[in-house]
Amino acid sequence: MTSPGTARLKALDSDHHLHPFTDFKALSEEGSRIITAASGVYIQDADGQRMLDGMAGLWCVNLGYGRQELVDAASQQMTQLPYYNTFFKTAHPPAIELAAELCRLAPDHINHVFFTGSGSEANDTMLRMVRRFWALKGKPEKQWIISRENGYHGSTVAGMSLGGMAPMHEQGGPCVPGITHIRQPYWFGEGRDMNREEFGKVCADALEARILELGPDNVAAFLAEPVQGAGGAIMPPDSYWPAVKAVLEKYDILLVIDEVICGFGRLGEWFGSQHYDLKPDLMPIAKGLSSGYLPIGGVLVGDRIAETLVQEGGEFYHGFTYSGHPVCAAVALKTLEIMQRENIVERVRDDLGPYLAKRWATLADHPLVGEARSLGLMGALELVADKATGERFDSSLAVGSMCRDTCFDTGLVMRSVGDTMIISPPLVITHDEIDALVSLARAALDETARQLAASFHLTSLTSESCS
Ligand SMILES: *Cc1c(COP(=O)(O)O)cnc(C)c1O
Repeated sequence: MTSPGTARLKALDSDHHLHPFTDFKALSEEGSRIITAASGVYIQDADGQRMLDGMAGLWCVNLGYGRQELVDAASQQMTQLPYYNTFFKTAHPPAIELAAELCRLAPDHINHVFFTGSGSEANDTMLRMVRRFWALKGKPEKQWIISRENGYHGSTVAGMSLGGMAPMHEQGGPCVPGITHIRQPYWFGEGRDMNREEFGKVCADALEARILELGPDNVAAFLAEPVQGAGGAIMPPDSYWPAVKAVLEKYDILLVIDEVICGFGRLGEWFGSQHYDLKPDLMPIAKGLSSGYLPIGGVLVGDRIAETLVQEGGEFYHGFTYSGHPVCAAVALKTLEIMQRENIVERVRDDLGPYLAKRWATLADHPLVGEARSLGLMGALELVADKATGERFDSSLAVGSMCRDTCFDTGLVMRSVGDTMIISPPLVITHDEIDALVSLARAALDETARQLAASFHLTSLTSESCS
């Protein structure tokens, strides 16, 4: 039952609140689900329903909800010094300590960080740094940044231009010039007519072809997520990254790895690029950096770039009011401390990731599932109309959103990207909670199949192993 208080909130929300990535009209008609509390890996809505948060908020609440230590860190810093900037030759202890700690945790060749307020700002910063670097090196014509279709790098003008989300490009353009996109290494979606590893090489070849088309002397950097997150939890074939690295080395092109999701333990290493042994020149970070408790992001800057910017750069005309915000930095620092004390990264790599992989794979037998994949604590299910051929549902059926809504009703937050269902739970999830997540996912798949069968008189789509 919806209480009068909740009804009032829903009405006000419909009347006044424009939500991110939302069809405003549709939402104002349907009303939103209002989340009021959370603890551990569970969230609760205003109607009292409890849901297992399979998305860790938005890929960020890695330490789970209700961490009093993070609250205390924020509160103490608020009392001590709620704000001061880091412009004009000033600094404060939280930003300094956080910078040092991040560089200690990052790969050896990374020893500097520039703070931002978000992942989008981190990518904007990265873009300016990359072009500035090449200008300082006497190669100002090295301007082009190559990124990938269906990559996600944020929603500011630079972020959406760097990202490869076509629907975003169609709104509010034109995009930032000098950015081009190549095909993504999405085997299930685009490569099933060849074997995975062959397909990985074909996608790396597309990078070399684009570099040659633009002229290697005009290409500044290649930007990618280690595993595409918002695009659908897409793990590239094993052949992909080594081949990409070889191409970039051949033409002296910088590698930027967007660690906003994969950083801070998601793939079982501090940074996703370590899982793939990438040694990037720059790494935008955000989200898990503060476990989502407060907004903070940054760019980790490799020595090659930092040396040039520091020694030869002069003033870099860039920064944000909230770059290195003391309260956000204090919470991020505490987040990193807790992650180390509780061995979270090692646990994801050695225990939770392998356990999720085993349990998640059991969903592959479901009649709606064409592929179940996972790496670390990120997973995806490809929903298909025909399991044998992998044929997709007609997109007008919006089976993915049907499944997502069903998940909500079943008590699980699982996101849909088209007909790909994705999870990215808090890194503190237990084995029992992983079991619960997988059975809730199966129940939601069954219910989705039932709804499909009811509307289209399809049969035999429900799972046999669920009773
Ligand atoms: C979320 C995300 C961003 C943007 O971060 P915001 O904090 O939303 O601006 C950038 N890159 C990746 C890979 C992301 O997942």
